[in-house]
Amino acid sequence: MKKIAVIGSTGSIGRQALSVAARYPERFCVVAMAANSNQRLFAEQVASVRPAFAALRAAGDLISVPADVRFARGETAFEEACAFPDADIVLVAVSGFAGLKATLLAIGAGKDVALANKESLVVGGELVLRRARERGVQILPVDSEHSAVWQCLHFDRTAPYARILLTASGGALRDVPLQALSSVTAREALAHPNWKMGPKITLDCATMLNKGFEVIEAMHLFGASLSQIEVLIHRESVIHSMVEFADGAVLAQLGVPSMELPIQLAFTFPERLGCALPRVDLARLGALHFEPVDEARYPCFRLALNCAERGGGYPCALNAAGEVAAEAFLHGRIRYTQIAPLIEATLDAPWPAAHSYGDLAALDSEVRARARSHLPSP
Ligand code: NDP
Ligand code: MG
Repeated sequence: MKKIAVIGSTGSIGRQALSVAARYPERFCVVAMAANSNQRLFAEQVASVRPAFAALRAAGDLISVPADVRFARGETAFEEACAFPDADIVLVAVSGFAGLKATLLAIGAGKDVALANKESLVVGGELVLRRARERGVQILPVDSEHSAVWQCLHFDRTAPYARILLTASGGALRDVPLQALSSVTAREALAHPNWKMGPKITLDCATMLNKGFEVIEAMHLFGASLSQIEVLIHRESVIHSMVEFADGAVLAQLGVPSMELPIQLAFTFPERLGCALPRVDLARLGALHFEPVDEARYPCFRLALNCAERGGGYPCALNAAGEVAAEAFLHGRIRYTQIAPLIEATLDAPWPAAHSYGDLAALDSEVRARARSHLPSP
């Protein structure tokens, strides 16, 4: 029986993780759950899962929970769930910079981390991996591309390889003419062709900031240099990523586009269990397509690669600027085509490396303030 803490249970990944756990009640037990503010859904989840401990980060009223569940609210309660003593594995499915704290708390408590929150590695990859090494815990990739690479490496993140080939769908706006991008709405940018995800990552797929984050995530997880990673647009999202070895052989991992697979595998590896999802039907697909990334369409991708190359505080600054730009676009304050210029203007400053959680949080706040200063007045 694996005891799991699900942090971010009300989100897209969190909800799928609860479905995975419910499928094998004899194998998985969700012992702790945490979310931020969606108390209606959280209360429903708690009533059906009945974890030992449930925490909502945002302040508010007490919610009604079954008598055998301990419920608490606020920052301390949220932190307690991230480091829940009885958990074997903590799934960090919080979105954004907030995930870093959850990841570090889980590692500090000696827990293996199933890591969906890629921002933890983008903003604080060195810190996260150093702490994981010191505590002797594993970081298990949940992001589908990184799960694919991990599978191609036989679950050994230190195994030798020549190159990593990350695939990208191209996002919701991949076929919109370039001159029409300035007038796309948030709704259009959030209509992802292949995946159903939370709003931030869905927008980041349209801009391909997400794929830039994933390049940085792969550099940390697999010790890759920037030049060892190639990104390909692959419209079908059936090949989740590939690894090329010294002799030129390429291994790919294929599957239907569902996050339930990588979530379940992070819980069970190296074992594979059944899954209720449909199978890949290659004969029906007929063909799989690959294209290089068009940088005119995806300027955020180039900005992310520049940050990966510069290192220091730039990846953390990239994430903070990206969060401010995404929120501004989703709330109608800037146009879609203003996202990349806003990030670029924010990055145009010296952003030195930060090595502790406190310094990263300070850097994150400073960058957000600078990004907000570039926003048009409301
Ligand atoms: P969602 O927006 O759907 O969910 C986010 C979750 O995080 C919710 O439970 C939310 O709580 C919680 N949350 C948000 N802000 C905070 C905060 N400040 N403190 C604590 N909790 C917070 O996101 P996704 O599930 O789509 O993504 C989660 C992570 O997984 C992201 O890092 C994303 O990049 C990554 N990922 C997601 C994929 C997907 O398919 N969705 C694929 C690969 C990676 P509440 O709703 O209660 O406010
Ligand atoms: Mg991904």
